[in-house]
Amino acid sequence: IEWPSKKVRETFINFFKEKSHKNWPSSPVVPHNDPSLLFANAGMNQFKPIFLEMADPNTELGKLKRACNTQKGIRAGGKHNDLEDVGKDTYHHTFFEMLGNWSFGDYFKKEAIEWAWELLTEVYGLPTDRIYATYFEGDEKAGLQPDNEAKDIWLKFLPPGRVLPFGCKDNFWEMGDTGPCGPCTEIHYDLVGNRDAASLVNMDDPTCLEIWNIVFIQFNREKKDGPLKPLPAKHVDTGMGFERLTSVLQNKMSNYDTDVFVPIFHDIQKATGARPYSGKVGQDDVDRVDTAYRVVADHIRTLSIAIADGSRPGNEGREHVLKRILRRAIRYGKEILNAEEGFFSGLVSSVIRVMGNVYPELKEHEKKITEILQEEEASFCKTLEKGIEKFQKAAQVVEGNTLSGEAMHLHLRSYACLICVYQLMADEKGLIVDVDGFDKAMNESKDRSRNAQKNQAGVAIVMDADATTTLLKTGVTATDDSCKYIWFQ
Ligand code: ATP
Ligand code: MG
Ligand code: MG
Ligand code: MG
Repeated sequence: IEWPSKKVRETFINFFKEKSHKNWPSSPVVPHNDPSLLFANAGMNQFKPIFLEMADPNTELGKLKRACNTQKGIRAGGKHNDLEDVGKDTYHHTFFEMLGNWSFGDYFKKEAIEWAWELLTEVYGLPTDRIYATYFEGDEKAGLQPDNEAKDIWLKFLPPGRVLPFGCKDNFWEMGDTGPCGPCTEIHYDLVGNRDAASLVNMDDPTCLEIWNIVFIQFNREKKDGPLKPLPAKHVDTGMGFERLTSVLQNKMSNYDTDVFVPIFHDIQKATGARPYSGKVGQDDVDRVDTAYRVVADHIRTLSIAIADGSRPGNEGREHVLKRILRRAIRYGKEILNAEEGFFSGLVSSVIRVMGNVYPELKEHEKKITEILQEEEASFCKTLEKGIEKFQKAAQVVEGNTLSGEAMHLHLRSYACLICVYQLMADEKGLIVDVDGFDKAMNESKDRSRNAQKNQAGVAIVMDADATTTLLKTGVTATDDSCKYIWFQ
């Protein structure tokens, strides 16, 4: 292939190195010293001290004027949370790489846009008629001006019909509730071509992809929902989705059809014996096996990297997010791909084969990653099995064809997180779950444990009850791919 992912990455870095950018290493996905962040969600995170003028000018960081890199990022939880989409679409991952270039008080809009254009059209050779650019249209309420400067620069390259204004949601970028931020201009690419795709930009259409965001960092938000404070200097911060760019350059309609994911799919197939990935995706006709492939491949990357960078699945904060991701993967693997216990940790070697040379920390910690995942997988499979076993007991208390809510509560309150599995099992027996009765019993125990507030176990049950209530109220069932039963426990 003309553009193997390795070459895509190297070409980006070399382009900016030639323009005097320092190739700065990726920070860990686990931001050990930034409590405002769950995981690194963008390349700019580690440069926050520079934007806020808090970097020591005598350090290498403090002296940086231009930098570029490929940053490891995780978007699960926090302001940028894509977890729910992962597996269902073809271009959001929990873990992904972000190619970035930065100017710290150095060049600004003109160079940033011109170089992006040069790289995409002259170096990567993308056809110009597939490219759309967006710019910030301003926001009166927030007292922010339209970014006509960015618009005018784009009009040198693109016809007016492909330079489009958008508001704060798409074209004012913020890393979290607080932090450096500013208006942005984004580059979108039409995967189909020979059509006017302007109306598809920013519409979550899988055939018209956002590939590159160029942010003009000029403000800091000190407090959540607080005012924007202008920064002393103006900076450029860009981020391009590596997997998306690769799909474009490899002429694929999906990130998952590139050499970044295909080898992992191959190993999932071998490990589970499921039918091969068939690459179907669509809002109405979601193929569950294909979805499971995408989820499992995505999540094993995320967990491998997060553990290599010093975190692990657990019960609080980011560790809890990792636990949810792990369980999501295992549920899809076991239930849909009919995988055996151990299949998930077995995929670590596959991730290392694809990414080990770029991120040597994966190789270095291979044993630890595999062991932690093995252990977690075994313990979750036990929970799943216990829940199923307890369900058999609860299922003996039947009134007509209805499963008593009281009995469900009695046997299953500690495994309420598996409610979707129970609904599926009840359905198979031709039974109906007394959802209201179960809900009521759970709520009563919730009230009881609220009275005994400081009891940790009680609090855990409160969470389960809330989760169950939301689940049942929204009518999510185990056959629904958005099933969230694994999330709470
Ligand atoms: P989208 O609108 O597609 O969710 P975004 O606007 O949230 O993307 P940015 O915060 O602008 O994304 O991040 C910069 C770039 O990183 C995006 O243009 C895209 O190419 C890539 N990117 C963002 N989120 C993801 C993700 N979850 N998986 C893969 N690539 C992503
Ligand atoms: Mg997003
Ligand atoms: Mg966007
Ligand atoms: Mg964006």
